[in-house]
Amino acid sequence: MTFDFATLAAAGGLVALVSGLLLVFAWMQFDHSHAAMRLSLSHLLGAGAIFLLAFGSHQHPMFPLLAQLLFVSAAFLALSSILSFENRDRPWALCVAGILSLGGLVLLIALGSHADLIRLLQLAIVASLFFISATVLWQGRHETLAARLPLAAVMFLHGLMTSVGLVEQLFRESLPSGVPTFSHWYGLIHIESMIYFIGTALFLVAMLKERSEARHKIASLTDPLTGLSNRRAFFYACERMLERCSRSGAPCTLLAIDLDRFKTINDTFGHGVGDSVLRVLAEVAPQQLRSFDILGRLGGEEFAVLLPRTHIREASQIANRLREAFSSAANRVDDHEVRATLSIGAAVILAGETTISEALERADAALYRAKLNGRDRVEVDPGIRRINLATGSG
Ligand code: GH3
Ligand code: MG
Ligand code: MG
Repeated sequence: MTFDFATLAAAGGLVALVSGLLLVFAWMQFDHSHAAMRLSLSHLLGAGAIFLLAFGSHQHPMFPLLAQLLFVSAAFLALSSILSFENRDRPWALCVAGILSLGGLVLLIALGSHADLIRLLQLAIVASLFFISATVLWQGRHETLAARLPLAAVMFLHGLMTSVGLVEQLFRESLPSGVPTFSHWYGLIHIESMIYFIGTALFLVAMLKERSEARHKIASLTDPLTGLSNRRAFFYACERMLERCSRSGAPCTLLAIDLDRFKTINDTFGHGVGDSVLRVLAEVAPQQLRSFDILGRLGGEEFAVLLPRTHIREASQIANRLREAFSSAANRVDDHEVRATLSIGAAVILAGETTISEALERADAALYRAKLNGRDRVEVDPGIRRINLATGSG
């Protein structure tokens, strides 16, 4: 099967154009993502370059040279899109590099340099930019996104294909009119460039979508003030932990935590200082807990901790340690003598309990007693054992 040159070029140009337009929609859908807009512009310039090269070559000798400048600009925009996606935007560095590259090529054209030399330089610049884009994507792999590696691979492949063109240019006779046909083995570039345009547009859109969904999910499970798990995430994590503990028969204890006279703190020092006190607890608590303990903000100034594999006595020691650490950290907050303290109620999760709701009620009842008994103390669910753990007496 053979295709004439105009058909191949028209197909390639159209694919670039359509994928560029698809990215305009992605730009609108994903909060005016710079990455989508820049890749869109890159594809549109690529489409322009292909049409110019294919249909303008015979119109004017300058058109192929102009097309090469467009290819270079498109490659710079593609790299800038990837850098923006990875939050590693370097607009000035990229602008300077772009101006120097394009300026250098324009200068060579103005000086009447041989077209082969100009094409050689253009291919070298374009190949380097795509290799850098693939590398930047690879370096960002700590953020797991399914489309990341395919996008890096497509970028790398495009860099590789451009390098093949470079080698071709260096060691063989010049390609007729600068665009290879399928009869020439380097004519594979037509297929590869279509894969490039479709692949980069689809994979970038997939990554933007995946990232936005992940962020929404995290936001729906995180308390924005403290960064701790919110009530929903806390309950969910506890249920999964209880499943594991019931399989192994390990005891679990729940702590209900409430800041003392928090309304007075707000009224005396202002809501902002109150917020800082909540953040102090979110900072101090993980330092006193173990990596497998589950901490969450249930709402307002109420927090809870699930202590897996923990008996009530050990749990009350942990609770008292947490209470003391907090009162010393929250003694002075935002340059105010706040002297914030907290009360804690502890309850054991009973065999057969698959959610923490009932244990939370018992822990709340113990917490209520801690409040009645003077606050800044730990009380345990009397269903298990009545001890005033703040004083350590049994
Ligand atoms: P007690 O010792 O009995 O627990 O008294 P309290 O004042 O801590 O309890 P109360 O339930 O009367 O007041 C809780 C206060 O917590 C009222 C509310 O304005 C405040 N609060 C709830 N959420 C926030 C928040 O996100 N930031 C701040 N600054 N205050 C909050
Ligand atoms: Mg409360
Ligand atoms: Mg309170």
